[in-house]
Amino acid sequence: DERLVNRETHSEDIDEVSLRPKKLDEYIGQSKVKSNLNVFIEAAKRRNEALDHVLLYGPPGLGKTTLASIISSEMGVNLRITSGPAIEKAGDLAAILTNLSTHDVLFIDEIHRLNRSVEEILYPAMEDYALDIIIGKGPSARSIRIDLPKFTLIGATTRAGLLTAPLRDRFGVINKLEMYTADELKHIVKRSAGILNIELDEDGAYEIARRSRGTPRIANRLLKRVRDFAQVIGKGIIDLKVAKHALDALEVDEIGLDGVDRNMLLSIITKFSGGPVGLDTLAASIGEDPGTIEDVYEPFLIQLGYINKTPRGRMATRHAYEHFGLPFGEE
Ligand code: ADP
Repeated sequence: DERLVNRETHSEDIDEVSLRPKKLDEYIGQSKVKSNLNVFIEAAKRRNEALDHVLLYGPPGLGKTTLASIISSEMGVNLRITSGPAIEKAGDLAAILTNLSTHDVLFIDEIHRLNRSVEEILYPAMEDYALDIIIGKGPSARSIRIDLPKFTLIGATTRAGLLTAPLRDRFGVINKLEMYTADELKHIVKRSAGILNIELDEDGAYEIARRSRGTPRIANRLLKRVRDFAQVIGKGIIDLKVAKHALDALEVDEIGLDGVDRNMLLSIITKFSGGPVGLDTLAASIGEDPGTIEDVYEPFLIQLGYINKTPRGRMATRHAYEHFGLPFGEE
């Protein structure tokens, strides 16, 4: 499987590929999404049809790409991976589509970033498995239709609301990925440790899991960093003591907040009297990109109940104040 582009992932994520579960039953958590997909995959296979188009949405690192690759392997077809920003021209997408084989899976990450002219090629491709191409110019221009193999488009995005309605409507299956529980992440950490030959005990695994912001990618990253500490300051085994020491050194706090999270919460509390503060103002005040705040940082803080999103902006809740030992409701 080739990647057309490098998404903005860290270089250490190269072995993310080796940590990816290959079968649906190795994919931990997301039980509702999994059991539904299992039915749709079975049904499509029995009818010898392509699986209907699938939209997956949720914050980065929750397993959208992994799920796309599992779907293709469960269907027994090829997977082609690309992303919205990588497809610049309508012709680029046409080239990808005409190169697919029957029932193949095309995965488009960050599908909300497709440009308009490219997106319009997708509509007939998804609906009728056809490409409409205009040849010639002016009065002699005419449109010809090319048939495409029946294929499955899997689109991934951070928020479903970022998609245009006509695109969203063309997905037969729309699934939201949820943040993982600490127990689920513990499974993932133990599984990854097994693959990477890292020794860790139950408590060590749980400590990493509960500080991973509900996100498998972060859990795997922390596991690798904690291993470094285990090798240098411990006996190479990750137990509770080593995990705590390492995570503290990495400035990942007791509940998984990192420097940016803390900065953001403290900014709302101290610079904006607890809010409400608009996203752009908040972003500027901490020197972060508004989109990154909305997609990466905020979902976890909202899930924790530390931030409320109101029509007038973001507000820090009592929980957020308490986390920092600050008095709530005083000027
Ligand atoms: P996304 O595409 O949503 O950004 P990925 O599919 O790239 O996320 O997942 C990031 C990493 O997290 C993968 O390498 C995989 O090892 C791990 N991962 C994600 N979801 C799961 C899961 N449900 N079970 C086990 N590992 C997972």
